[in-house]
Amino acid sequence: MEVDRARSVVTIEWDDGLRQELPLVEVRLRCPCATCRGLRDRDEDPWPRPGSPNPLGVDGAELVGAWGISFTWNDGHATGIYPWEGLRAWAEAEHAEAERAGAAHPDAPES
Ligand SMILES: [Zn+2]
Repeated sequence: MEVDRARSVVTIEWDDGLRQELPLVEVRLRCPCATCRGLRDRDEDPWPRPGSPNPLGVDGAELVGAWGISFTWNDGHATGIYPWEGLRAWAEAEHAEAERAGAAHPDAPES
């Protein structure tokens, strides 16, 4: 797992070679914490919030046991834990979409 601050993407390399690049903004919009879920339930975006630093950035990323990963965002928000399961499902959905579009990642392993 790598955070590329210059490009604002999080890259996750899965054990089977599937590589996932997640734009930080999309990661933040999917923040699974109770606060952000509440905002989405009211049809509000969890980011940007009034006074949010722009562009969005990540100050740190931390593994949460075997469970998942948490980010410390540059506005101080750090309560969301992203379970691996959810990230993996996201990766597979994107991968499937890319394959359907005939644009599979060029360095994906051949099967
Ligand atoms: Zn949140």
